[in-house]
Amino acid sequence: MNLFLSDRHQVAEDTMAFWFEPEKPLHFKPGQFGDFSLVDPPYTDAEGNTRTFSFANAPESNRVMIATRMRESAFKLSLAALPTGSPVQLKGPMGDFVLHKNPERPAVFLVGGIGITPVRSIVEHASKQLKTHRLFVFYANATRARTAFFDDFRAWSANNANLSFVPTLTVESPKEWEFEMGKLDRQMLSRHLSDLNAPVYYVVGPPAMVAAMKELLDDIGIDELQVKSEDFAGY
Ligand SMILES: Cc1cc2nc3c(=O)[nH]c(=O)nc-3n(C[C@H](O)[C@H](O)[C@H](O)COP(=O)(O)OP(=O)(O)OC[C@H]3O[C@@H](n4cnc5c(N)ncnc54)[C@H](O)[C@@H]3O)c2cc1C
Repeated sequence: MNLFLSDRHQVAEDTMAFWFEPEKPLHFKPGQFGDFSLVDPPYTDAEGNTRTFSFANAPESNRVMIATRMRESAFKLSLAALPTGSPVQLKGPMGDFVLHKNPERPAVFLVGGIGITPVRSIVEHASKQLKTHRLFVFYANATRARTAFFDDFRAWSANNANLSFVPTLTVESPKEWEFEMGKLDRQMLSRHLSDLNAPVYYVVGPPAMVAAMKELLDDIGIDELQVKSEDFAGY
């Protein structure tokens, strides 16, 4: 299906969100992704004109948002330069990084950087529901400036007693920061979760972070059937 670029703005340091209007209603589950192909882009390279992006907004909207770390790849230079109204082709939705059915089981998201996109979709959607799962979002970034959608999660957690938002910074330690510091580890999880074995875990981010989190969960003794992951290959 064709989507048309309708808006773009910066959502963190080196990080842009892009909004598209689909030519017909797009039905996706929060947490899914699609393959986005540029049509006749101004820049090209050997990596081609298609990238995979998670849908970053709740599906109730009639628009679709993606967000990405900007780099000087031909794809992203082209995306940044596209005039409003330009078409992109979408293949999808795809993927099963979606919330489990049983609301009695908490969902714990272990997120690295731009891996926040599918989690943003899931949490925005859940925040619109009257009754939902207990949700914990652990969200690691190098710095506050790189923490995309911080204000959205703060607002949703202020209005939704079922949502705990736990951002952490791995490089910077600003004076006014009142949240966690350092990488996600067992101690940090234990400070916020009463039973590490009860939740379903959702791990998402760059491949190295996803591998480290799977190892952590394995060390804790979490059954691999309790772990869903999405590896943002390409980072
Ligand atoms: C299921 C899924 C969902 C995804 N969702 C998202 C999403 O929501 N948002 C998002 O941003 N990405 C997402 N990705 C990753 C995305 O598809 C791209 O691979 C990623 O954005 C990198 O694209 P690129 O154009 O910057 O690099 P490419 O041109 O594709 O880079 C190719 C290679 O060069 C390396 N490379 C390129 N630039 C640099 C650099 N500056 N420093 C170091 N190495 C570099 C890359 O690591 C890679 O090995 C997702 C991937 C998957 C599989």
